[in-house]
Amino acid sequence: MPAPADPATTVPALPELDHERWMREAIAEARVAESHGDVPIGAVVVATPPGGEPAIIGRGRNERELTEDPTAHAEILALREAAAHGGSWRVLDAVLYVTLEPCAMCAGAIVLSRIPHVVYGCTDPKAGACGSVLDVTAEPRLNHRPRVDGGVLADACADLLRSFFAARRGARAGT
Ligand SMILES: [Zn+2]
Repeated sequence: MPAPADPATTVPALPELDHERWMREAIAEARVAESHGDVPIGAVVVATPPGGEPAIIGRGRNERELTEDPTAHAEILALREAAAHGGSWRVLDAVLYVTLEPCAMCAGAIVLSRIPHVVYGCTDPKAGACGSVLDVTAEPRLNHRPRVDGGVLADACADLLRSFFAARRGARAGT
């Protein structure tokens, strides 16, 4: 597990959200990715306005194949939408939910966005940068370390990926 963030470098704790509820929204985004032939990975950014109810301010799904863009990862697209919503590149007072542990690029974008909290579904032993291969989000030499919680609806998130790749292998074997 990633080391806990240094409280001195993070904003005060936000009200705790229902992580499974919002991860299900990220899973819905992942299913959209699958519908256009992309690896099913989805993300949402959830913010709670003062005195209000939590709501999604950014959505993203893997669109690497759809847009032929190597950077069109779910987290990048969700963070862009959230930043546009807030009118600032800083995505404060929000939580990023993503179905798969972020890669090095997305973990870098997470640090740059200053988002205080990341919740992911399943780990990515081949490319994860929140503790699996690298630990960008806990790197003490960087100036922002978000809180990171993994393993929320991990089986559901992993099943999406497993069935996607199994179907693809099956299709290839059938040709
Ligand atoms: Zn990524």
